[in-house]
Amino acid sequence: MTSYVFITGGVVSSLGKGITSACLGAILEARGLTISMIKLDPYINVDPGTMSPFQHGEVFVTHDGTETDLDLGHYERFVHTAKGGRHSNYTTGRIYESVIAKERRGDYLGATVQVIPHITDEIKQGVKKGAGDADICLVEIGGTVGDIESLPFLEAIRQMGIELGHDRVVYVHLTLVPYIPTSSEIKTKPTQHSVKELRSIGIQPDILVCRSEKPLPSEERRKIALFTNVQEKAVISAWDADDLYKIPAMMHDQGLDGIVTRQLGLDLPKADLHEWDAIVDAKQNPTAEVNVAMVGKYMDLKDSYISLVEALQHGGIHTRTRVKIHYIESKDVEEKGVDCLQGMDGIVVPGGFGDRGIEGKIDTVRYARENGIPYLGICLGMQVAVIEAARNLAGLEGAMSTEFNKETPHPVVALITEWQDQTGDTVERDEESDMGGTMRLGAQAVSLQEGSLAAKSYGSMEIEERHRHRYEVNNNYRERLSNAGLRFSGLSVDDLVEMVELPEHPFFLASQFHPEFTSNPRDGHPLFKSFISAARKYNAGELPEAAEA
Ligand code: GLN
Repeated sequence: MTSYVFITGGVVSSLGKGITSACLGAILEARGLTISMIKLDPYINVDPGTMSPFQHGEVFVTHDGTETDLDLGHYERFVHTAKGGRHSNYTTGRIYESVIAKERRGDYLGATVQVIPHITDEIKQGVKKGAGDADICLVEIGGTVGDIESLPFLEAIRQMGIELGHDRVVYVHLTLVPYIPTSSEIKTKPTQHSVKELRSIGIQPDILVCRSEKPLPSEERRKIALFTNVQEKAVISAWDADDLYKIPAMMHDQGLDGIVTRQLGLDLPKADLHEWDAIVDAKQNPTAEVNVAMVGKYMDLKDSYISLVEALQHGGIHTRTRVKIHYIESKDVEEKGVDCLQGMDGIVVPGGFGDRGIEGKIDTVRYARENGIPYLGICLGMQVAVIEAARNLAGLEGAMSTEFNKETPHPVVALITEWQDQTGDTVERDEESDMGGTMRLGAQAVSLQEGSLAAKSYGSMEIEERHRHRYEVNNNYRERLSNAGLRFSGLSVDDLVEMVELPEHPFFLASQFHPEFTSNPRDGHPLFKSFISAARKYNAGELPEAAEA
């Protein structure tokens, strides 16, 4: 029987509710429990797939190809048993879409369809589906208590507390306890008000997690407990950590997992946090440092590449390397040249959509290729690598992706239907893999070529990685490109290009899929480990192992 922990937020947004939820999941998992995790998002978009990264950060893709909120990425990185999917992220739009569809079908048998009970029932059913058969399901409610939009979600979780009982439901509320420098005072009032707001809709929190700059003094803790009707030991202080991976231990040391498991009546072994300790140790005691340039769009908005940034850091953890990421706008490379890439030990071109700065990305690939700098291309980063090779190795002048130039004389990257048009060939496509309309989404199998850098990095010939893209390398150009020196080292079951590399280069590897979505700090990820190792060797003036072998 699954128990539930509901996590709400108060005072302001951006307090790190996703990370807090993920860390709570991690310390509960460390007690031997299986965990599922759900995010409820109050906005009306049906999913975040259509939202600008400017507004909402990265779109995280789950194994089953669902485009979800970036918090799902935190969950998967922190909790091994939490496998996100279709039922792990619900928005207001999705809930209403489904209720309206039922109403149109006549499922409500003439009833007047209302927020309570129809919308709240739909939310509760969704939560139960997402919970699966895990021991504990953690449900994070997006937004801030007091927002109009989040009310139906809060009402649904209130009802679940009554229906399931106090020994199967725990309410955690995350708040801000600000420090006012002019009066040197810590202020508990916003927390008091936020809890008051929550209680006014019928939810009494069992645990408060208080975000603050410094650890909360015991006097303030006592005061908060008194004014909010929460036990003093259940007022947890979450101060600004210099490292994300210190947070599980920070929470465990204050007994957070114990408070939850006691309320749920679970008698469990102590938390085993040795893997988290090892991560912190590796981060604090690196044996080398590398400078990695990430050349893309939206570089002032780091949340749009959060999984990739994390995956690079995981590569650092598993090679004891401090990874310094330099965020470079590809438009700047286009306009001011490649000088800003000097001194880099590795270059990454991440995934992306839209043509802004595309020539800058192609110039970046050329610079990495000609100077033997380790290169890792992800999705669009692979497509620009193919375009660069087409133009400068295969002599296909004006080669481009049809995403950016429909009239290109050499559409080396194009929609599958476009290269079918070009030759009259038909390409067998698995309909199932076309979830989400025209995008290729979710995990698919990839076969790697024996002896390739890709196969050596993975230590395997068959892998599975997640996708999120529309355009594909045009198979009609494969022969010309491989004659020019580009190796197609990974192919999908339906013969689409998944990985390319340059055997003559110390480390030049790019993938059509997004390896960052499956990287986590405890295991690391083969591609990022080998990329960071290559950057380390480049930095030391040596060749990376994979190329030497
Ligand atoms: N825009 C490219 C495509 O749709 C790449 C997408 C990506 O990098 N995620 O194929």
